[in-house]
Amino acid sequence: MVIPAPNLTLNKGRIPTSETENSRLKIGVLALQGAFLEHANVLRKLGVIPVEVRLPEDLTDLDGLIIPGGESTTIGKLATQFGLIEPLRRFIDGGRVVWGTCAGLIFLAKDIGATHSGGHVVPTRIPVVDIIVDRNAFGRQVDSFEADLRLLLATDETPFRAVFIRAPLIEAVGAGVEILATLDDGTIVAARQDNLLVTAFHPELTDDIRFHQYFLVEKQVEHSFE
Ligand code: GLN
Repeated sequence: MVIPAPNLTLNKGRIPTSETENSRLKIGVLALQGAFLEHANVLRKLGVIPVEVRLPEDLTDLDGLIIPGGESTTIGKLATQFGLIEPLRRFIDGGRVVWGTCAGLIFLAKDIGATHSGGHVVPTRIPVVDIIVDRNAFGRQVDSFEADLRLLLATDETPFRAVFIRAPLIEAVGAGVEILATLDDGTIVAARQDNLLVTAFHPELTDDIRFHQYFLVEKQVEHSFE
């Protein structure tokens, strides 16, 4: 594990997304619980046709999947009941892009530090992203807040106004994990490992579409070679 360096370089040069390219994408949103409708709305704004995923067969033919924020224990329980855990694991192993926001980040994290703040129940997860997470690090629902983030993924340096709701933070990342955004004090709140993107906040609750664009870019590049 690597503790973040205080100064990070901007990752410039990502290509912008276009709506025409987006319209060829089929992106799923795990629709068991939480803020899935909001993600679907942003995808529609970007020209993507979103697919609500509740059953294993809903994953067929998807280019990628968003696991929304909500409550990770509930999402884990429902994913188990709906027989989604193994199909989701195969989806991820197959290299499809998957983005976990907030509870979705907890769902994908290798280590959620069960002894840290956040209660006693360790939710069922698919622990694939090499990060150590402090679940509910920022306190309870009433401690929800907004903050300007330093983005390391954008071609500009405009801060990203982010909404944190009973949010986790990323304490440390493994060698294969790229840090994408931090709070002013260096706290890591967004990261990427190969085909997997995780954010501790809720980009679908603001008008800033940069994280959704970033998520879609990878798929566009693939399609443009078809
Ligand atoms: N802290 C919540 C959990 O453990 C996640 C909160 C959120 O997704 N906004 O599931």
